[in-house]
Amino acid sequence: MGIIVQKFGGTSVGNADRLQSVAEIVERTKKKQPVIAVVSAMSGTTKSEGTTSLLLAAADVALKGASFDPQIDKIDRNHVHAVEGAVKDAARREETIAFVRDELKKLRSFLRAIRVIRELSPRSQDNIMAVGERLSARVLAAVIADRGHETVFHDLSLVVPEDEAEVDPAFFKRLQTRLAEVVAPKGSEIPVVTGFFGMVPRGLLRAVGRGYTDFTTAMIAAGLGSGRCDEMQVWKEVDGIFTADPRKIPAARALPRISAAEAAELTYFGSEVLHPFTMERVVAANVPIRIKNTFKPDAAGTVITRYDDDPGQVTAVTAKRGITVLTIESNRMVNAHGFLARVFSALEKQAVVVDLVSTSEVSISCTIEKKDDAERAKMELEALGLGQVTVSAGRAILAIVGEGMKYTPGTAGKMFKTLGDAECNVEMISQGASEINISCVVREDDVPKGMAAVHAAFELEKA
Ligand code: ASP
Ligand code: MG
Repeated sequence: MGIIVQKFGGTSVGNADRLQSVAEIVERTKKKQPVIAVVSAMSGTTKSEGTTSLLLAAADVALKGASFDPQIDKIDRNHVHAVEGAVKDAARREETIAFVRDELKKLRSFLRAIRVIRELSPRSQDNIMAVGERLSARVLAAVIADRGHETVFHDLSLVVPEDEAEVDPAFFKRLQTRLAEVVAPKGSEIPVVTGFFGMVPRGLLRAVGRGYTDFTTAMIAAGLGSGRCDEMQVWKEVDGIFTADPRKIPAARALPRISAAEAAELTYFGSEVLHPFTMERVVAANVPIRIKNTFKPDAAGTVITRYDDDPGQVTAVTAKRGITVLTIESNRMVNAHGFLARVFSALEKQAVVVDLVSTSEVSISCTIEKKDDAERAKMELEALGLGQVTVSAGRAILAIVGEGMKYTPGTAGKMFKTLGDAECNVEMISQGASEINISCVVREDDVPKGMAAVHAAFELEKA
C-alpha cells in the first residue's frame, strides 16, 4: 500500500478536542497504510486569530518598538491549554509543555533584538513564522504518541540548502525530491511534519504566501510521486468543494469529484479551497488530492483529479466581491494601433493587477481588485491623455466553471438569460480561451439573486 499524505489546517488542530480527532484520523489511516501528517499552525475559527497572524503581529509591534507580550502570551496560553487537554501521559505532557515554553522563550529574545535594531528582514520574519508550525507539529506528534504510536517530528525550517539563491521552478523541483526523502516514513513510524519550510531565498511569504502548508504537503506528495503516494488529503472543516458557497446558497452540494483546472479556477475566485500553487504540482505527479471533513471522517469528500469525465456542463458557480471596474473610453482607438499597449504599460507602471479585460472599438474595461489601484490607474491614464476614464466600485465577478462547457453549446446564452430574468444586470463579459470559465461583472448587491438563479438554472443541486 502506498503512503497517504494528510494535511491538517490550523482550525483542525486548534484545541485539545480537535487535536484528539486529528490523532484519531491519523491512527485510523495508519491501520491500513503508511501515513504522513503535515500541519499548519494552530488557529481559532478565523485565520486572523491564528498563531501565524499573532506571530506576524508580534514581529510588527517589535519592529515599531512596542510590546509583543500580548501576542506571545496568547500563543503560550493556547498551546499549553491544548497540551494539557490532549496529552494524557504526565511525563510526555510536561516534556511537550517544556518544548513550547522553550520555543517561546527563544522567540521572545529574538523579538527583543528586533525591537532594539528596528529591522525585520524576510529571513527574520520567516524565523518568527516558523515557530507556529514547529509548535503545532510537535504538539500533534505528542498527541499521536500518547495513543501508543511511534512518531517522528520533522521541523522543515532549515531544509532548504544554504546555497540556494533563486526561487524558480527548478528550485521547487529539487526541493520536493528532498522533502520526500526527508519525511518518508521509516519502519512503522508516523512522521509529523511542519507546514513551514525554509529558509527560502527572500522569504516564504513572498515565494509562496500565507497558506503555505498546502503547498508543502503538495511538494511532499509530488516528491513521493504516484509510485509511492496513493493520495494527498486536505482535512478541513467542510465537506469538500461545493457547487456554490453553501453559506450563501443553501441548495449547494459537495461535489464528489472535480478536475484540477476547475478547482484552480475556483481557487482564483477566492473559494479558499487550496493554495493556488498546490493543484498543478500534485496532479502533474498523478497523485489525486482529496478534500475531507475533520468532523465527518467517513464521508468521501471531494477528489481532485487530472481530468473530469463528468458530462455535466457546469460544475460550480462562484463570485468574487469587492471588484472595481475601470473603463477607458476613447475614439483614438478606432483604426489605431498600439493603444492597448499604451494603456497596459500605464497600468504596469502603476503595478496595477488586472483580472478580466473586455474591449470594443471605443472602450476598454478591466476589473481591478483594489479600489486604490483603480484610482491610481485612473490618474495615470488621464495624465497620459489616453481617454476618459471612469471607476465603478462595488462590483463583483460572477462566474461559472466547468470542463463540460467546452463541449456544450449555449451555456453562455443560458447563463446570461438566467441573469437577465433574475433582473441582474450584466455589465461586462469575459470567457477565457480555455472555455472552462465564463465570467461576468455584476453589481455586488445583485450577487445573491444572480448566483441562486444560475445555480438553479444549471440544476447544480442535483447530483
Ligand atoms: N499557518 C500558515 C498561515 O496561516 C500556513 C497555513 O495555514 O497553511 O498562513
Ligand atoms: Mg489554509
